[in-house]
Order: sequence, then structure tokens, then C-alpha cells
Amino acid sequence: MDKKFYIAANWKMNASLSFINDYFSFLDSKAENSNEMIICPPDIYLQSLIKTAPSFIKTGAQNISSHDAGAYTGECSGEMLADNSVQYVIIGHSERRQYHQESNEDIKLKLLKAIDSNISPILCVGESREERESDQTFDVINKQIRSVLDNDILSKDIGLLIAYEPIWAIGTGLTATPEMANDVHSFIHSIVSEMISNSIPILYGGSMKESNAKDLLEMEHIHGGLIGGASLDASEFLNIYNIAEEIRNG
Ligand code: PEP
Repeated sequence: MDKKFYIAANWKMNASLSFINDYFSFLDSKAENSNEMIICPPDIYLQSLIKTAPSFIKTGAQNISSHDAGAYTGECSGEMLADNSVQYVIIGHSERRQYHQESNEDIKLKLLKAIDSNISPILCVGESREERESDQTFDVINKQIRSVLDNDILSKDIGLLIAYEPIWAIGTGLTATPEMANDVHSFIHSIVSEMISNSIPILYGGSMKESNAKDLLEMEHIHGGLIGGASLDASEFLNIYNIAEEIRNG
């Protein structure tokens, strides 16, 4: 199957200088395969990661300001991220939506700033447990996608990735079954296909780990993973990246 996989780590608010040194003593340039590995550390460690990680690894931030500059304490602009060689940025993660009250409108502004700065967005969407249990999954996803993406944005060559992350599966140990995830990925694919002909890679996120990665990544519409907890273990994260390669070569 020739499907390129994107295996992305969201370290959230974890790591330290010694963690980074140990991580990349283990995960060195010999680990490279034909898929894309992306690591998103806290901003303060972006430079350490760039200096320490092998060059095949792409670097991502976990957030971007919706403003260009000025009195926005604690924020980092797209220009600043680009100045630090950041290639990807996670936008609309459920933890940002929940703890920072980011709306679909804020997320669109952030996505536009990423595009202005030539940084590829990783747009996260996903439903809560209540929404799934009341059969609103597809409505929620539809709204999250359509209020942020449009034909104009999608026609730009920006390296956009979409991550489907059911909120009830993030950091909980619960994973969507491969079929459940694939159904939503297929739905996202159909929305995006109405807007452009190129297909956009859709990653799954929510307790992906070595033990479930193969079953998830083998599904037709799953093109990778956005991985939180399991990405903090260099060996487990590398194993997931290698599983993607086995599937690609298989
Ligand atoms: C995430 O934070 O994007 C995530 C998917 O976390 P976890 O893998 O820990 O569920």
C-alpha cells in the first residue's frame, strides 16, 4: 500500500533538557524511514529539539497566536515560530478548546496565521463523550471542519494535516475502535473532497500506542497518528513509526 504516514508526537507540557538528550540518544538518525515524524514539544524546548534531534524529524509547536505582535502575554506569533524553524503547529487541540475557551472562530484565525507564516497546520477536531452518546459526532465534526476550512484555504499548498481526536479517548486509555475511527475519517474525507480534489492526510489521536497502532494505521482513511502519552517513551514512539513503515512496505 503506498500511503505515506505522519507520526506526530504531542508532548504537551512535558519534557526537560535531560529528557530531550536521553530521547535523542535513543532516537537517532538511524531511525529514519520513508514516513514523516513530527515532534511538538513545549515552545521553550523548540530550539533544544532542533539542535538535538536528527534532521529528518520535523518540529511542531502546540499553539500559535491569532495576533501578529503586541500586548498578548504568554503568546507566540507565527512569525516567531517560523523564526525558530518550526514546520508544523497543532491548532484546535481539545485541551486548548476546553481550558482556553478556543472557539472555531479563534481556530480559524490561528490557522490563517500559520498559513501566513508558512507553517503547516495540524487541525484537531473531535467530539466529546456526551456528543458521541447522543449521536452528534458527525454534526460536531462537520461544524468544526466547515467553520475553519474552505475551498480557498484548501487550495493553498500548505501541508495541512487534520487530526481526528475523540475527546473521550485522549489520555484516557480508551481508544476508538479502528472501524469507529475510520468511519469518522471517511466522513472528514468526504467533506474535504467536496471542497478540493487533493486528499488531505487525516491522523487519528486518542490513546494510540504500540499495541493498537497497527490495527488503526491499517484502516483505509487513517494516515497517521497524533500521539500524546505514548510519545513520551522514545522506544514506544519509534516502534509506532516503524509499524507505519511495515504497513507502508507491506
Ligand atoms: C493528544 O494529546 O493529542 C493525544 C492524542 O493524547 P493521548 O495519545 O495521550 O491520548
